[in-house]
Amino acid sequence: MSHYEFFKVVQGYLDQAAKVVNLPAHVATILSQPKNELIVHFPVKMDDGSTRLFTGYRIQHNNIRGPYKGGIRFHHAVDRDDVRALAALMTWKCSLMDIPFGGGKGGVEVNPRAHSKDELMRITRRFTHALGANIGPEHDIPAPDVGTNAQTMVWMMDTYMNRVGDAEKNAQMRVVTGKSLACGGSLGREQATAQGVVFCVREWAKDKNVDLKGKTAIIQGFGNVGSFSAIFLDRLGVKVVAVGDHTGYLANPEGFDVADIFAYNKAKGSIAGYENGKTIERDAFFGTAADIFIPAALENQIGSKEAELLKVSVISEGANGPTNPEGDEVLAAKGIDVIPDILANAGGVTVSYFEWIQNKRSESWELEEVEAKLERRMVRQFRKVMDYAKAKGVPPRLAAYCLALDNIRVAYEERGIFP
Ligand code: NAD
Repeated sequence: MSHYEFFKVVQGYLDQAAKVVNLPAHVATILSQPKNELIVHFPVKMDDGSTRLFTGYRIQHNNIRGPYKGGIRFHHAVDRDDVRALAALMTWKCSLMDIPFGGGKGGVEVNPRAHSKDELMRITRRFTHALGANIGPEHDIPAPDVGTNAQTMVWMMDTYMNRVGDAEKNAQMRVVTGKSLACGGSLGREQATAQGVVFCVREWAKDKNVDLKGKTAIIQGFGNVGSFSAIFLDRLGVKVVAVGDHTGYLANPEGFDVADIFAYNKAKGSIAGYENGKTIERDAFFGTAADIFIPAALENQIGSKEAELLKVSVISEGANGPTNPEGDEVLAAKGIDVIPDILANAGGVTVSYFEWIQNKRSESWELEEVEAKLERRMVRQFRKVMDYAKAKGVPPRLAAYCLALDNIRVAYEERGIFP
């Protein structure tokens, strides 16, 4: 299979939106490339005493609206093109959500499952050391993504903090978000992305006059976003009837006991071997009749073949870039609604922003406060995207890009080009 050109796909959406919002040519040119691209090769001591060289990336796409912001991915197949695309998506996401951050993304070519906790700590710390002053609490703020978690962020924070003297240490805490609660994290951050994904499903249902009680869902990817999406769907009375991760797919037409499979996955690190479900092939998963599909694994999962197989009414994109343009076309022809990634999965960066503010102000907000603020922002931006889509007669994905791009257009027009 030829390499999927993820950045080109994201740029393609941008080009379409640029026409709708009459983007000046010079702004389109600026936005056609990331601002900075850093590739680092760094040595790490393995548990057996050997030394391995790892490759990591940090790509800073745009910071016209605020510090670069975006996750760090640990995945064996991560490459510069993926990170560029993911960095660009962060620019559009933060702008769409009216969050005063730009877009960035990072990654290390590593399979985290193949390393001990100690090795992962040393990989994370050496990567952070290699990034050096290229990240910073007012400059570029990483967060968790595929293969990383709160522990990874705490190691990054601790390594970064040790670059400065004692008196300045505390002010460095917000160099990363998605930290553990004990180390400056925010209540509600861990589940925020999934909560946003499901708020979107709920708003979609309101628009369509659909009662979600007793409806069914399928979820691809059962990590942070996928497993918490199952929990939030379950709370709305939706039955999760098929799930899948990198180890395979499981079906349970009666609906999984969500708390049980969540706990199993947390304990084992995957759904492999979970007994209360029947093993099914990937195609059968995509062909499972259900009302809702939450893709929450990787990009480029819904092509024309998968879109043909799908028998759902709505897709709320938990993953970044799960649908490719051919898939999108088929979904549109079949009348399957798509809530686009830069809206649907923006709950994570929204609560990351709340975490960053709390750190900056030395505050600690109640969970209810975080959740209420997240809900308000998700509902407001969902409404804006759907109203724009209706008014302009464009799909929600294009509407989301147009709204995001318009904010950035205004910033460039007002600031001009230096000098
Ligand atoms: P994670 O590492 O916690 O989970 C990833 C899941 O995907 C795992 O269950 C893994 O087994 C599964 N997976 C990997 N490869 C697969 C494959 N080929 N087929 C099927 N399943 C596969 O990662 P996450 O943080 O839940 O991120 C998932 C997606 O959501 C990514 O696209 C990420 O960029 C996006 N996202 C995450 C956040 C966040 O806050 N964590 C925010 C916005 C978007």
